Amino acid sequence: MMIFKIPVKASSAAALAICMMMGATPAISMNNQVHSIQTLPRILVLATGGTISGKKNGMSEIGYNAGGVTGKQLVEDIPELAKLAEINVEQIANIGSQDMNDAIWLRLAKRIQDAVAHNEADGIVITHGTDTMEETAFFLDTVIRTDKPIILTGAMRPSTAIGADGPANLYEAIEVAANPKAKDHGVMIVMNDTIHAARWASKTHTTAVETFQSINAGPIGYVDPASVRFIEPKKQPVPSYGLPTTAPLPAVEILYAHSGMGASIINDLIKTGVKGIILAGVGDGNSSKEAMAALNLAVKQGVIVVRSSRTGSGFVNRNVEVNDDKNDFVVSYDLSPQKARILLQILIANGKNKLSDIQAAFEAGF
Ligand code: ASP
Repeated sequence: MMIFKIPVKASSAAALAICMMMGATPAISMNNQVHSIQTLPRILVLATGGTISGKKNGMSEIGYNAGGVTGKQLVEDIPELAKLAEINVEQIANIGSQDMNDAIWLRLAKRIQDAVAHNEADGIVITHGTDTMEETAFFLDTVIRTDKPIILTGAMRPSTAIGADGPANLYEAIEVAANPKAKDHGVMIVMNDTIHAARWASKTHTTAVETFQSINAGPIGYVDPASVRFIEPKKQPVPSYGLPTTAPLPAVEILYAHSGMGASIINDLIKTGVKGIILAGVGDGNSSKEAMAALNLAVKQGVIVVRSSRTGSGFVNRNVEVNDDKNDFVVSYDLSPQKARILLQILIANGKNKLSDIQAAFEAGF
């Protein structure tokens, strides 16, 4: 909360006039002297849709369409927010996040950059579907440099459901964004009373409200309607890359490995002119001999190949079962296939083509 001290010598009338001009509530002491003005933190809410904005449809008892209810409506439905922050809401999109795309990412990121550059808000909250929330969070974390909190939130149950989790999540996301302790933690996800860093957060369950977990790390904090607590120190600064100017981002595809994997799918992919392939490998980023040979061929044709894992946790390290030095492969370390894809797209869009630079960028997050 920002507190403006009024000079002690200022007359009550003058101080009151300043209060009125600033639209703030003056605090008046017992001896009738105005001694301070408290203004609420300014929060910009950028709405993109998702289940938090979802409405029941007739498809089944639990059927619903994501998107629909506006961000403005979501905020208006929580009157308690008026005590927490001064809120401006803008609608960036109104979609299910399964349809999130590069063009909306760029629009969202540019709007945030602009708001930060002009100091329009003390914190930013993005309402978003949960399916690809971790991808948008990671994208923004990689291209936006600010000490202001940027928080994504959503819901697992639509706004019309009994026990909808959206209002509590939105309230707590705004509560965290409005708290000075949230500065310098990068982009975060706030869901189910828990604060996650963008790098580690992942949706791990199809329907549970506790679906977001911080893989390999654990949450960085917790929130309830009365308190915000960070248990992790502030984020290490990681390199921030330039925001690509045009969509679509460079073509990078994810290949899901499995037993009996052949080469044909990889050969077909090379023919599409793909710039990068992320192998969602078995175990430690592995695949069959046939698939590895085809990936080696892809590298020879200028495609950047990154080995990651389909297991959902752990690290993919260099030169364990696969000779990465010999094959000119990159490894993703802790990054999931979907986050490895985004980092590679941003690196290519920033003109980084040297394999050693790309490998270093994957290691820079921890
Ligand atoms: N399909 C929805 C979405 O990602 C799911 C959700 O928001 O929980 O928009």
